[in-house]
Amino acid sequence: MFRKNLQITALFIHLFFLSPLLFSQKYTPIDTTKHEKRDAFLKEFNIDNETYIKEIKSKYDSKLAKYISNSFSEFSKEFGDQIKKGNFIFEDEITQYAYNILEEIKKNNLELKDIKFKILISKSHSLNAFCLSNGTFVLNLGLFYWLDNEDQFAGVLAHEIAHKVLEHSLKKKERDFREEKNMKENVTQLKKEKYNVSDKALALFRERLYENGNRAKQHEFQADSLGYKLYSRTNYSKSEYLSALKLMQQYDSIKPVGLPVVVYKKYFDLPNQPFNEKWLQKEDFSNYDYSKFTEKINKDSVASHPEAEARISRILSLFPETKTETKAYNPHKELYEKMNNIAYLETIPNLYFNEDYGLSIYASMLYLEKDNKNTAYFKEWLGKSFQKIYEARKNYTLNRYLERISPKEQSESYQQFLSFMWNLKLDEIKQIADFYTKQG
Ligand SMILES: [Zn+2]
Repeated sequence: MFRKNLQITALFIHLFFLSPLLFSQKYTPIDTTKHEKRDAFLKEFNIDNETYIKEIKSKYDSKLAKYISNSFSEFSKEFGDQIKKGNFIFEDEITQYAYNILEEIKKNNLELKDIKFKILISKSHSLNAFCLSNGTFVLNLGLFYWLDNEDQFAGVLAHEIAHKVLEHSLKKKERDFREEKNMKENVTQLKKEKYNVSDKALALFRERLYENGNRAKQHEFQADSLGYKLYSRTNYSKSEYLSALKLMQQYDSIKPVGLPVVVYKKYFDLPNQPFNEKWLQKEDFSNYDYSKFTEKINKDSVASHPEAEARISRILSLFPETKTETKAYNPHKELYEKMNNIAYLETIPNLYFNEDYGLSIYASMLYLEKDNKNTAYFKEWLGKSFQKIYEARKNYTLNRYLERISPKEQSESYQQFLSFMWNLKLDEIKQIADFYTKQG
C-alpha cells in the first residue's frame, strides 16, 4: 500500500517548465528491450563487485570481512536481478549527461580524482538517488522531472558523492555487525533473567531503533556538509543547493491531484458506446472521514525525506551564503529541459512496465487533462492499458493490476476512479481499449 500511495502522490502534476517547443511530434518511449548495453553493464558490474569484495577482505579482519562481503554479495545479486528485469535505463544521452555533471564536480575537487564512480539511471519516477557501497550511484529518472535545473541535479549528486567519500554504507555495515553481536549477548543475558523479560527486550529494541535513526540522520547531515563543500567549488549557484533540498521537502507534502467526475464522460462517451452514468456509482463510504486520510498522508506514509526541514536549517546556519538567491548556472539549459520532458513522458510507460495498469490509466487521464501537447501519446497509453485491463478481466486476474477500493488508504478521487473501473463490464472495457488503440 505504501508504494501505491507514494506513486499516486508522485503523479501530482508538476510541470515546472515544459517547453512548448520541445517534442511537438509524438514522443517515442525509451526502448528497454535492447539488451546489449544492459548486458555489458552487468558484466562490468559483476567484475567490479569481485574486485570490491577482494578489497573488503584485505581491509578488515576475517569475521567482519566475511560479514560485509556476504551481505554485499547478496545485495549485488538481487540488484543484478533488478538490472536484468529492466528496471534501469541504458540510454547514452541520459547517462552521458549525468556523467558530465559528475565530471564537472570532479574536476573542481582534485581529491576526487582517483575515485571511480559509476552511474546507473533507474526508471523510477520518485525524487531520489542513492549510492551503493562500491561507488555506483543510482539516479532516478524522476530527478530530472522534479528538479528545476542542472544545478539542483549536481547538488543531489554531490550529496551522494559525499556519502561515498565518507564510506557511510561501509560504516553502517560495520555497525550492524557489532550490533548483531551485542544483540546476541543481550538475548543470552535476558534469557537468564526472571522478571519483566519482555519489557526489557522491548526497551532494548526501542533503544536500538532510536540509535539507528539518529545515526542515519547524522550521516545525512555529514553528506550535506561535505556535499555542499564539493558543490560550492563548481560554478553552480550556491542557493540552488538549498533549493534542491526544499523541493525534497515539498515533494513529501504534495497531495494527490483529483480528477473531476466530468472527465469520465469526456473520455468515455464513445460513438459506439454512449456514456453510462451507472459506471460512476460508488459504494457508500459516507461515514468515512476523509480528513483523516489527508492527515495520514501528511504525517508519515509519504515522507521519504523526513529530515528535510532540519537539513535545510542546518545548511542555512553553516553556509549562510546559500540564503542569497542567485540565478542557476544551468549551463545546458536546453538539454536539461529535454531530460525533464523525457522523465515526464516516461511516467506512464514506467507504470505500464510495472504492470500497474490501473494507475497508468489514472495517470494518463490526469496528464490528458493538464497537457494538450501530447494528447495522441497519452491516448495511445490509455488504449494499451485498457487492452491489458481487458485481458486481465477476461482471465479473472484483474485483482493483480487494479486495486480494490479501500477508503482508509485512498483519496476520494482515486476511489471514484477505481469504482468506475470495477463497474465496467468486459465488453465495455473492450470497446474503450479498441477506441483508444485506434486513436493513438
Ligand atoms: Zn543522503
